[in-house]
Amino acid sequence: MQVFEQVESEVRSYCRNWPTVFTTAKGSRINDEQGKSYIDFFAGAGSLNYGHNHPVLKEALMGYLAEDNVVHTLDTYSVAKRRFLETFRDVVLAPRNLDYKVQFPGPAGNNAVEAALKLARKYTGRETIVSFTNGFHGMTLGALAVTGNSMKRGGAGVPLNNAATMPYDNYMDGRTPDFLWLRSLLEDPGSGLDRPAAVIVETVQGEGGINVASDEWLRGLEAVCREHELLFIVDDIQMGCGRTGPFFSFERAGITPDIVTISKSLSGMGLPFALTLMKSHLDVWEPGEHNGTFRGFAPAFVTATAALETFWRTDDFTAQVDANADWLDGRLRGIAESHPELVITTRGRGLARGLVFDEPEHAGLVCQEAFANGLLMETSGGADEVVKFLPPLNTPRSDFEEGVDILREAVATVAKEVSAKEQA
Ligand SMILES: *Cc1c(COP(=O)(O)O)cnc(C)c1O
Repeated sequence: MQVFEQVESEVRSYCRNWPTVFTTAKGSRINDEQGKSYIDFFAGAGSLNYGHNHPVLKEALMGYLAEDNVVHTLDTYSVAKRRFLETFRDVVLAPRNLDYKVQFPGPAGNNAVEAALKLARKYTGRETIVSFTNGFHGMTLGALAVTGNSMKRGGAGVPLNNAATMPYDNYMDGRTPDFLWLRSLLEDPGSGLDRPAAVIVETVQGEGGINVASDEWLRGLEAVCREHELLFIVDDIQMGCGRTGPFFSFERAGITPDIVTISKSLSGMGLPFALTLMKSHLDVWEPGEHNGTFRGFAPAFVTATAALETFWRTDDFTAQVDANADWLDGRLRGIAESHPELVITTRGRGLARGLVFDEPEHAGLVCQEAFANGLLMETSGGADEVVKFLPPLNTPRSDFEEGVDILREAVATVAKEVSAKEQA
């Protein structure tokens, strides 16, 4: 363990909550050097929607490497890229009637967001991007400027500007339909809001605490964008690739964003891969205007293509996610109802779920206790008050049961500790 503490920067984070050394992983399970097995309800922050080392994806990757196929290509044409684009067009875009061009930005989510913001500014000639309370879009300066969390913003070291924050759905407890706030400001010449280039939004805020925007709110927001000719960007990096059921999380609301970012589970195996999708008339890029060395990582094309073929040719996978989501929601409600002294509520959509605690400290203790008993989960939310579930979407029911049992025990243990402390 020492080498990590001596050599690795203080910036390391997840390893502090899970102080062990991981070795192998399969499906919804990950193992450490001591031979302890954990249920993984973190899933690489949503990068492992199909679980660790899915056999079909792994086989595709190993076959590709074994034949000395090209690995690094910048953005030159390759067979792997052709297969990916054809499959993405045929399996994802065409059946949904989506007329998007596909941009390969750098391989991280933040770079897909940077590309989206640059393009919106270039296309409209305007600077301001509207973002939302508790939104998260990445840690590079442009993406950070549209991110809510004050601790993360504080790391920028320069002013984060050209962005305006607005209340997300339900920010004001449902007393006002919050998107009307944006509409009022846009219509009021005295509002002080410069005419924005675009709006960037998550349909469910993953890092922000599993806050769910209603379909009605999203449609209202899209309508405001159309009325005022703002581009409508959906950041589907965490909620896309089936996390909420359908491939894109915005499908159920019946909206069609102008620009979409996806990443995390896109490669299906945790390999770095991101896309920025734009309606074709918005494709005003000059060649090379948003460049990057790792925009053609062929192993990720290969596993992403295999994932699309395996999971997205039919609607069966979405149905499976919906069924698992109903089951998990019921179990989490049960835990919340048994511990009203600690848990305020549950929320979520699909297999993005949260247990909202009265105190951030209690949410943290529950995750610690769960880790000790073999379950990985993290906290999220503005104050880290939400215990967040992102299980692999194809987690077998027996692993679900085992994970939920560990969680239930962890909540009970923390409840006991808290009440003992209160009585002392
Ligand atoms: C993770 C995430 C990002 C940033 O992706 P990175 O790969 O960490 O740069 C952006 N937006 C959302 C919604 C995310 O969940």
